[in-house]
Amino acid sequence: MVDSNTKWFGVIGNPIEHSLSPLIHNSAFEKLKVNAAYLAFKVEDVKNAINAIKEFGISGYSVTIPHKVTIMQYLDEIDSLAKKVGAVNTVLVKNEKLIGYNTDVMGAINPLKEITPLKGKNVFVIGAGGAARAIVLGLVNEHAKVTIFNRDFSHAQKLAKEFSVSSKEIGVLSALAEDCDILINATPVGMYPKVNELPVDEGVIRKKMIVFDIVYNPLETKLIRVAKKKGCKVVPGVEMFLNQAYAQFEMFTGKKAPVEIMRKVVLKELKKRQKNQS
Ligand code: NAP
Repeated sequence: MVDSNTKWFGVIGNPIEHSLSPLIHNSAFEKLKVNAAYLAFKVEDVKNAINAIKEFGISGYSVTIPHKVTIMQYLDEIDSLAKKVGAVNTVLVKNEKLIGYNTDVMGAINPLKEITPLKGKNVFVIGAGGAARAIVLGLVNEHAKVTIFNRDFSHAQKLAKEFSVSSKEIGVLSALAEDCDILINATPVGMYPKVNELPVDEGVIRKKMIVFDIVYNPLETKLIRVAKKKGCKVVPGVEMFLNQAYAQFEMFTGKKAPVEIMRKVVLKELKKRQKNQS
């Protein structure tokens, strides 16, 4: 029940109507009987929103598209990982100070680490945007050998230079596939409504590869389907979403995230949405 002691959390972004964050965090608060509530705020101007957040005494919030980078200039402190990513997806309010963090790194790396140690693994990352940045940083921290491929090669080169990893033209990926241990799609290719698209030729995928697709609408992308058929171990994009939310919940509450209920409500909602799309 909401009362005058209820702690407030939320997500700021635009658009925000389809955010799964209120569902996942409120279900977790309810499960652990935490007196807290989580709302979605459609925010156009981050600076104004920050002032309102301080004024209303909101305890913490998630930050999503398009504010993950812009918000950084308005925060009092940014932790070192978020600084390296160059993006903040979580803000905690501590002693009236706004502190920025990034849980996308953990969100991407934890599900992979559950399958295999990453040290020394050859990882091909397709994409060089915001999500790829968090993934590449996480992989570098785990001492994986990363090669970035991207439609616009100059973006791959820039990201690779920043994190001291390799970059190669997307056209040569197929010829190098034999050496790849883990293949990661960090582009929107395969996302609803273009669900029949693949970020690489089918022939690239080998049985020995672990295939991670960060797209989670649909829940099972064509890339994941093809990889499963070839006998690969797979990590669907929803795992990244869930793992970043678990980390966020633990920062918000200081309690261990009730992962079963969080997973259950998100999968149920995504399946429902998928049914409505088809
Ligand atoms: P972003 O910053 O806009 O970067 C998009 C990247 O994908 C760029 O490298 C871009 O290449 C490439 N790309 C875009 N359209 C392409 C196409 N048609 N063919 C080939 N490459 C294409 O986006 P982002 O924030 O990194 O997000 C990327 C995807 O990840 C989105 O679908 C997003 O929903 C998903 N995502 C999932 C999670 C999760 O929790 N599972 C978290 C974050 C993001 P250029 O450089 O050539 O433009």
